[in-house]
Amino acid sequence: TTRVPLSTLSPEDLAAFLAEKQAAYTALQERGLTLDLTRGKPAPEQLDLAEDLLRLPTTHLDRSGADVRNYGGLEGLLELREIFAELLGVEVAQLICQGNSSLTLMHQTVTNLLLWGGPGSPRPWKDEDVVRFVCPVPGYDRHFSMLADFGIEMVTVPMHHDGPDVEAVRALVENDPTVKGLWIVPTYANPSGAVCSQEVAAALMAMPSAAPDFRIFWDNAYALHHLTEEEVKSADALSLAAASGNPDRPILFASTSKITFAGAGVAVMAMSEANKAWFLQHLGMASIGPDKVNHLRHVEFFGDAEGVRAHMRKHRDIIAPKFAAVDDALTAELEGLDIAEWTRPTGGYFVNLDVLDGTASRVVELAKAAGIALTPAGSSFPLGQDPRDRNIRLAPTFPTLGEVETAMAGVATCVALAAAEKLSGQD
Ligand code: PMP
Repeated sequence: TTRVPLSTLSPEDLAAFLAEKQAAYTALQERGLTLDLTRGKPAPEQLDLAEDLLRLPTTHLDRSGADVRNYGGLEGLLELREIFAELLGVEVAQLICQGNSSLTLMHQTVTNLLLWGGPGSPRPWKDEDVVRFVCPVPGYDRHFSMLADFGIEMVTVPMHHDGPDVEAVRALVENDPTVKGLWIVPTYANPSGAVCSQEVAAALMAMPSAAPDFRIFWDNAYALHHLTEEEVKSADALSLAAASGNPDRPILFASTSKITFAGAGVAVMAMSEANKAWFLQHLGMASIGPDKVNHLRHVEFFGDAEGVRAHMRKHRDIIAPKFAAVDDALTAELEGLDIAEWTRPTGGYFVNLDVLDGTASRVVELAKAAGIALTPAGSSFPLGQDPRDRNIRLAPTFPTLGEVETAMAGVATCVALAAAEKLSGQD
């Protein structure tokens, strides 16, 4: 059956559609489900891929003969830095390896900028009247909640399939000296799956900024997390910035949270020489060195950069079918009705679902009452406020394939029901 847009149905046909969806929803509730599509966590099978880490390292000596059990080596183990420099397309000298969380490194970076300022800062950010960040939306909720916690104001710009809206960013960055930062997930964005093109990255790195210490937080959490055989290469942020005379603008972050263990991986950071000296100077006050045993464990486990790529293909084999199941369920129920749009990401951990304007909160509420937990509507926007109440972030990696199928069929029913309610004036 070819469907017609729901908004074009006659009142009688719409009433019949609504009754059909209400019946389907009642049946869904009667199943007594308890399913969860809220957070982008690796499934147990994915964690099992790295189980051998628990038996490594086999030695306590690094390549240079240093004892990794002891203090020291603030920049992290050289052999691991080499692997991640190759994977992220940066110089080894630009990259450091630290503890398990890249989010912590981002937090430390903002803290340092607030307390002391960074290279090029006229003063510490805490001494500015206002500090603003440009936030492409939809985006990663933890970036936004961190900024809110620091009292940093957020100004949104649209996120397109090839990165943030360059002209919207430019209008803010060029003219407003209170705009000190921009946060971006360049490859397989959370939640849209967008990949920032080399052209957009070049424009972001080159545009004049009113603030002399404008920083781009280049959170490449999903750089290696391909869902298809096409393994896209991330835009070359550090080189582009250096080539356009703004070497200190970008700071790169990544981690093995979704490569090895989400709770016990390694986080990395890459940046200009000046930024690195600045960051290490402050880090040296907080630590005598990172967990190099874990660094060596990762080096032994992977061997080299190709070992990491091969490992990521095993993740892909586990999670790609779950992403296909999301698309299949939404297509089966909603295609042609013109009440929802969703992404078909080629990497990363999320699907972005845009439902009929004004119905996202209702969809999440309906799903919850049917035992399906979704991320709260609006969570991909600063302060949780989606001006159109239409955006829902789906995270299909953690549940089993069968659970994703069941949950998504239910979500699709909720999307259709909420739209029918809205269009028939029942909301
Ligand atoms: N950045 C993004 C875009 C993420 O989606 C996540 C995890 N959800 C993180 C950072 C967290 O990274 P880490 O585990 O290294 O702190």
